[in-house]
Amino acid sequence: MEEADMTEFKATIGGKPAHVGADFAVLNPATGKEVGRAPNMGGAELDAAVSVAKAAFASWSAQEDAALQAACAAVTAKIEEHAGELAEIITLEQGKPLNGLGSRWEVGGAVAWAGYTTGLSLPARVLQDNEQGRVELTRKPLGVVGSITPWNFPVMIAVWHILPALRTGNTVVVKPSPHTPLSTLRLVEIMNEVLPPGVVNVVTGDDRAFNLGAAMSAHPDISKIVFTGSCATGQRVMRSAADTMKRLTLELGGNDAGIVLPDADPAAIAEGLFWGAFINNGQTCAAMKRLYVHDSIHDAVCAALVAYARGIEVGDGMEEASILGPIQNRMQFDKVSQLVTDAKGRGKVLLGGEPGEGLFFPPTIIAGLRNGDALVDEEQFGPALPIIRYSDVEEAIRLANDSPNGLGGSVWSSDIAAAKAVAGRLACGSVWINKHGAIQPNVPFGGVKASGIGVEFAEEGLAEYTDIQVVFA
Ligand code: NAD
Repeated sequence: MEEADMTEFKATIGGKPAHVGADFAVLNPATGKEVGRAPNMGGAELDAAVSVAKAAFASWSAQEDAALQAACAAVTAKIEEHAGELAEIITLEQGKPLNGLGSRWEVGGAVAWAGYTTGLSLPARVLQDNEQGRVELTRKPLGVVGSITPWNFPVMIAVWHILPALRTGNTVVVKPSPHTPLSTLRLVEIMNEVLPPGVVNVVTGDDRAFNLGAAMSAHPDISKIVFTGSCATGQRVMRSAADTMKRLTLELGGNDAGIVLPDADPAAIAEGLFWGAFINNGQTCAAMKRLYVHDSIHDAVCAALVAYARGIEVGDGMEEASILGPIQNRMQFDKVSQLVTDAKGRGKVLLGGEPGEGLFFPPTIIAGLRNGDALVDEEQFGPALPIIRYSDVEEAIRLANDSPNGLGGSVWSSDIAAAKAVAGRLACGSVWINKHGAIQPNVPFGGVKASGIGVEFAEEGLAEYTDIQVVFA
């Protein structure tokens, strides 16, 4: 594996390193030590990035579809070539282990998504061709796409935003989270080895003196924002996008419920329940964030889940033995700690419950909770799962749907038909049976209610990077 260069992280604007006077430190959540420094940019750098992206759009969008596809294939190959280096940077700045469902898995996912998106196309459609005339529908790129990403899957989510934008003929300015900017800086540098200058640019800032995301959402020369992050920030993006009528894809927070039906097999589902909830330490939009278990098997499910969870190694992500790492940042750690402290007074701690060293927090499972308790109602986005006992399936469905969010949900049962019937009644964008959170590049993914607007992935996701034009002949 090539060694990642942890000293030089430069923003790429117009195909060249951007020179900025100021920078900010990025800390390793496992050790608290500095991993590297990212440029601290403001409005002037953002304007420069948007301006070169706008200039590059003319020739980029004028290419034949096959040329766009070839360029995306070259970008995919570059990411794959640098997979080991990118994984190492992700682990150092994000905290997730190299191993397991960690950073190598994240970069593997990024390569798979990039490759699949490269192969997609949105050909023109003939809507009518008769004696009254011919009507053709084509899909046109939008211009400059602004991508704003969170800190949980920095490379995979950047790829989810950038590749469909490029594939459809748009140019991009991407802005990573101040918590995890380094892997995105390197990703864009790598992409620029095979792309014309200005097609993909990156800006980074610490969100203190100047909020780049807010400025992007209002920028007159950005045609679309694709945003992945919290509901509150997504709402801000939507408000400030109104004046320039930006197209929006908003992938926001979730508070996904899992419902275990009475006929489920506790031993068979324990591993799936654990990873459904604790993938990336629970810092996953579509992780299972509340678990409703039928009274008749409640204790057996809790015992099987706790037994599985006890075998999970938590530690510094650079150690091959670690399967889960620390919480990514202090703000999130404090939020999880507060929710767990509150829940301890209301329910029964089955596992964990006490913070560890630094930003480490062990997998925590608390039973005896109900809707109305903060750990159930709020998005914890961390390694703490509330379990709610129920006795009537109708009641479980009502409680699962009693949330402003609607990203994902799951039903656990030995009877697939019965599980599907419950699945159809959950108010969310994706429902999984006997698993949770599995996403695929060929399947549209998005939330309903406060969890967002629009979808990503597959043809439906690709279409969101285009406007429709119809020609009547
Ligand atoms: P966040 O909303 O705090 O930040 C997201 C991004 O927005 C960052 O890049 C941040 O710098 C930027 N930002 C800050 N202020 C802004 C403003 N006023 N205007 C525009 N952008 C601004 O979210 P986070 O804490 O980084 O991520 C965690 C959240 O993301 C969770 O709620 C999680 O569920 C959600 N998420 C959703 C999905 C999904 O696909 N639905 C995927 C991953 C994460």
